[in-house]
Amino acid sequence: MNGALEEPASRLDLETVQLEVVWNAPIGIALVDQRLQVVRFNRALAGLHGLRSRAWPGMSLAEVFPAEEATRELLWRIQQVLATGRPFPWLELEWGRVSCHPLHEGLEVVGLCLYVEEVPEPKLAREALQVSEERLRMSLASASIGTWDYNPATGEFLCDSRTQALFGAPPDLRMDCERFFSIIHPEDRERTRQLVQRAESPESGGGYETEYRVIGIQDGVERWLSAQGRAWFDEQGQLLRFSGTVLDITHRKRAEASARFLSEASRLLAERLDRAEEILERVARLAASSICTYCIIGVARADGRLPRVAAAHREPSQEHLVQAALRFVPQAPGTSPLLEGVHTGKSALIREFTQEVRQRYAVSPEHLALMNTLDAHSVMTVPMRAGGKVHGMMILAACAPRRRFDDQDLSLAEELAHRVGMSLENLRLYEEARQAVGLRDEFLSVASHELKTPLTSLKLQHALIAKSLTPECRASLGARLPKAMRQVERLTTLVDSLLDVSRIGAGRLGLEPIEMELTGLLREVMERLSEVFAQAGCRVDFPATPPVHGYWDPLRLDQVLVNLLSNAAKYGAGKPIHVRVAVEGEWTRLTVRDEGIGIAPGDLPRLFSRFGRAVSERHYGGLGLGLFISKQIVEAMQGSIRVESEPSRGSTFTVELPLCPPA
Ligand code: ADP
Repeated sequence: MNGALEEPASRLDLETVQLEVVWNAPIGIALVDQRLQVVRFNRALAGLHGLRSRAWPGMSLAEVFPAEEATRELLWRIQQVLATGRPFPWLELEWGRVSCHPLHEGLEVVGLCLYVEEVPEPKLAREALQVSEERLRMSLASASIGTWDYNPATGEFLCDSRTQALFGAPPDLRMDCERFFSIIHPEDRERTRQLVQRAESPESGGGYETEYRVIGIQDGVERWLSAQGRAWFDEQGQLLRFSGTVLDITHRKRAEASARFLSEASRLLAERLDRAEEILERVARLAASSICTYCIIGVARADGRLPRVAAAHREPSQEHLVQAALRFVPQAPGTSPLLEGVHTGKSALIREFTQEVRQRYAVSPEHLALMNTLDAHSVMTVPMRAGGKVHGMMILAACAPRRRFDDQDLSLAEELAHRVGMSLENLRLYEEARQAVGLRDEFLSVASHELKTPLTSLKLQHALIAKSLTPECRASLGARLPKAMRQVERLTTLVDSLLDVSRIGAGRLGLEPIEMELTGLLREVMERLSEVFAQAGCRVDFPATPPVHGYWDPLRLDQVLVNLLSNAAKYGAGKPIHVRVAVEGEWTRLTVRDEGIGIAPGDLPRLFSRFGRAVSERHYGGLGLGLFISKQIVEAMQGSIRVESEPSRGSTFTVELPLCPPA
C-alpha cells in the first residue's frame, strides 16, 4: 500500500521528505489525475472505514467514495475544481468531509489533491457494534441458544456449533435444507416445512416461530427445539436471507408431557374403584401410547404371585405378543429378576436390555424367544407401593432402536406406579369398608327383626294387663303402666327406624300410594302428638286450610310428618310451631317452622344423611335417622325436602310433593 508513494509518478513527483510527510499525515490524502483516477494516496486514507473500497492506483474516485446521493455532488464539485482551478474547502458529508485543491503545471490543472477526514463516530459505532455482537454471542451461548443462517443464493445453511450439537451433528458436517428437514421428527416435518415456506414468502412478513422435534443425526437422540427466525427480502420481494435461533426445550416439553400423562392417569384411576382391572388395562394402554412401547401390570396376590392383569402394546399388530408375555408374569416370585421388585420394593432401570440381560431375565427358553421377538432395548421394572405394601409390578419397555430410558423416565414411571398403588390400596380399603357396611346392615336388619318380635309381644302383654286391671290395682299402679307402655312405644319407633335404614340400604323401601287427603292426615298426626306438644310447651299454629288431595303412601307420609313435628317440639320447646300447607300447580308444599335452637350453617349439609346429628347426645337423645328416612321417603315420592335455619332463631323444614307422582 505504501508503495503508492514510494514510487512517485513522473509528473507529480515530490521530494523524499515531502513524500514522507504526506505519507504520515494524520489526514487522508489522495492525488488524482484529470480522469479522477487515484494516482497516489497516503496511509491515513488507506485506513479510512467509510470508503466503499480501498483506494488503489488506477481506481476511479467514484468507486472509492460511498455509493450514495451525496457522492454524486462531491464528484461534480471535484470536476468543477478541475475545470475552474478553484479549490473548495471542506465539504461536509455524512461519513466525513472532503476538501479539494487543484495541482497546477504552469497554468494547466493537471490533477487534484483531496484531503479526506472521517467523522470518528463510525469507528466508535463499529466498536460498539463489535462489543454488542460479542455480548449477544455470549448471551446466546449461556442461554444455550444456537444460531443458523440460510443463504438462498448459495444454498448455504450455516449453523453455529451449538445448533450443530442440537441437531446431533458433528461440528464439521455441512448442513443444507434437505438434511435439516430429514432430521425433523416425521410427525413435525410437514408442519415445519409449511411454516418455513410461509416465512419465505414476502406476504408473510418473514416471521418464523415454531417448536419441533429433531432426531440427532449422529447420536439419534430426540430433542425438542424451539425455533425463531426471520426471512429478509429485497425490494422485488426476492428472499435474501433467512436466519434465526434454536433453543433446546426438551426438558420443558418432557415436564409438560409428564404432567399431562400423570393427570390423565390420575383421572383414569379415579374413575371407578370397583372396575380396577379395566382401569389398569387403560393405564397400561395410556403408558404404552406415551411413555413406553409396551407396558405390563401385574397385581400381587397374598402368596406373592402376580396374576395376569393388564398389558398393552403401542402397535396393535404386536398386541398379541405382549398378551402372550403375560403368561410368564404370574410365575412364582424369584423365577425372574424382572419380578424382584415385588419383594424388595425397589425399582430397576435397565438402560440396555441386551441379549445377555434378556437371557438372565428369561424364565424359560420360550420366554427368551418372546423377549427377542418383542425386542425391547430398554426396560424399567417398578413396584406399585402404597400403605407400606407392594401391590404389584409394572414393567415398561422401550422398543425404538435409539430410545433409552433415563432417570427422568424412571421417576415418572415410579410416580405412575405409586398412583396406581394408591388406587389399589384405596380399592382394598373400599372393599373392606363395603364389606364392613354390608355386615353392619345385615346386623341391623337381623337385630331389629329379632327385637321386633319380643316388643310386639310386650306391647300385647301391656294391653292385656291394662285391660285386666281392677280399678284399685290401676289406682295403686298410678302412672307406671302408661309410662312403661310409652317406653315400649319409643323402643318400637327406634327399632322401626333401624329396620327402615336396613331396608333403604338394601333398596327395599317399598311405597304403597293411594288417593288421600293431606290436611286431614296432618290434623290426625297433630292430635296424636298433642301430649308431646303439651310436654314441650309448644302451641301449634295451623290455620284452616282447604283439603289437599294427592296420591301418596299415607303410612310413609305419616312417618315424615311425625318426624318433622316431633323434631320441632324437641328442638323448639317452649315456643310456637307454625305449620302451613299450600298448593301450587301440580305440587303441594308443607312447611313446619319452629322458633327453637336452630342449626349452625356448617351442620346443615349432613342433617339428611344417615346418623347425621347437629346436637350433642348429652342434651338431646335420638339416632339421627329420622330426617334421613324422611328424605328417602319424600324422594321416593318424587318430592324434595330442605331446611332453612339460623342458630337460636329456629328452623323451617319444607317438603314439596307432586300431587300425583309419575309412575
Ligand atoms: P334425631 O333423632 O337426632 O332428632 P333426625 O334425623 O330427626 O334425628 O334429626 C337429625 C338432626 O337434625 C338432629 O339431631 C338435630 O341436630 C337436627 N334437627 C332436626 N330437626 C331440627 C329442628 N327442628 N331444629 C333444630 N335442629 C334440628
